[in-house]
Amino acid sequence: MTGTQKNANNYSSIFLHKWDAGGKDYNSRDASGTNPPLSFPTADWLRAEVDLAESGEAQSTRARRAAEWLRSARSWRSARRPGFGGGWRAQPMGSRGPAPGGATPIVCFFFLPPLLSLGSHGDHCLLLPSVQSPPTFGFLLDIDGVLVRGHKVIPAAVEAFRKLVNSQGQLRVPVVFVTNAGNILQHHKAQELSSLLGFKVDPNQVILSHSPMKLFSQFHARRMLVSGQGPLVENARALGFQNVVTVDELRTAFPVLDMVDLERRPKTTPLLRSDFPAIEGVLLLGEPVRWETNLQLIMDILLSNGNPGTGLATAPYPHLPVLACNMDLLWMAEAKMPRFGHGTFLLCLETIYRKVTGKELRYEGLMGKPSILTYLYAEDLIRQQAERRGWAAPIQKLYAVGDNPMSDVYGANMFHQYLQKSKHERTEDPGAGGLGKQQPSATQSCTSILVCTGVYSPSGPESLEPPQGREEPPFHGHRDFNFSPELMEASHIVNDMNEAVQLVFCKEGWAS
Ligand SMILES: [Mg+2]
Repeated sequence: MTGTQKNANNYSSIFLHKWDAGGKDYNSRDASGTNPPLSFPTADWLRAEVDLAESGEAQSTRARRAAEWLRSARSWRSARRPGFGGGWRAQPMGSRGPAPGGATPIVCFFFLPPLLSLGSHGDHCLLLPSVQSPPTFGFLLDIDGVLVRGHKVIPAAVEAFRKLVNSQGQLRVPVVFVTNAGNILQHHKAQELSSLLGFKVDPNQVILSHSPMKLFSQFHARRMLVSGQGPLVENARALGFQNVVTVDELRTAFPVLDMVDLERRPKTTPLLRSDFPAIEGVLLLGEPVRWETNLQLIMDILLSNGNPGTGLATAPYPHLPVLACNMDLLWMAEAKMPRFGHGTFLLCLETIYRKVTGKELRYEGLMGKPSILTYLYAEDLIRQQAERRGWAAPIQKLYAVGDNPMSDVYGANMFHQYLQKSKHERTEDPGAGGLGKQQPSATQSCTSILVCTGVYSPSGPESLEPPQGREEPPFHGHRDFNFSPELMEASHIVNDMNEAVQLVFCKEGWAS
């Protein structure tokens, strides 16, 4: 018995489906079961056969064919020619189902060493070169904990973008960066990402937590009190708000309001202002620096119907409109433990309002992940990006990569549910009037991918495993989102961003 025959007892079959727009049948096998695939021997056997074939001493048609495929694959991988006809999609071992869209899968037998070893939820699959036909999928990428930690880029993210960007420095698929950060200008965030990731990020690819406020045009002409830090006024104006007042300006106009810090209390009793135009709404754009000042003055505005110099016997309810973004209770920077996020500030404000008035603080709009508003906004930017690039194929699948189960995973899963529910007719009101103006969507799914480079750690406090003695992990989500534990379960868990891209390319049959 030859070595080849011995190894033949160790057969393993790899089924590669060809997605060929022209439907050209290069092989004799199909997936109907009437023409069952040949089992293919081990790698050693194949390599031996291929060596024979390449040296012109082929012993079998099967080996010659394998050698042709191998040469073709090698040549494609080295050249990465964009116009290579047809494409190869690797299916998980044993998958023999028909190709989506009615394409006839052609089964061939061919060995390649496993290229991917994915996370605990990842499928193991093999990847063959794929034609770079227009993408039908796009990425929604979180930033902190996925691409960067503090001001440092995560090396796996740089590696991932080597796969995502072509030799001309252009993205091969539509990508938007969806962060719950908000205390920065959109174009500055784009510049920051460009220098960290090594390719040019367009400001239109950056979605800050407050970006969907552009859709709330009914409030853009109102006089709005804005809370947060950083370039607050510039951000509010960029969102469309034409008449904004900062908390500092309000404090200066009414110095007796801010009394917590003894050092900042007025030394004399100032005259009350009567010429200060009423505030007509509140924008909460991010965590402020002096929480006690902002909590006090926002409460004053809500309780006085925008006239803190007058005071009211009874607080109006409903109160003035409040738009808020970034519900993250915690976020991850360089410190080993998570930091307070804007969600913690909102929790304080809601608790104080309820304690003082006996009623619930209400939001006209609550955005940033996991709000569906943010995902609808992101989906629209992905569609626009694909149009600008001239990619005719509609974007049907979104992959959302994040490090926070409560915002990234919860949001992506909730959006997926929304897409499923509204597949035939999107009648659900997502809460923002302006969204009705968006183009109809072709998106069918949103897949959540959780990485372990940020808030989530398989063994840390954000672990999805219930802690000992408790049935469920604590709910860090916002009050207005019902806790559905299943929505915190990621479709896939991988180590880092690079593995996330490998996973998606594998699922989509793309070469990395
Ligand atoms: Mg994050």
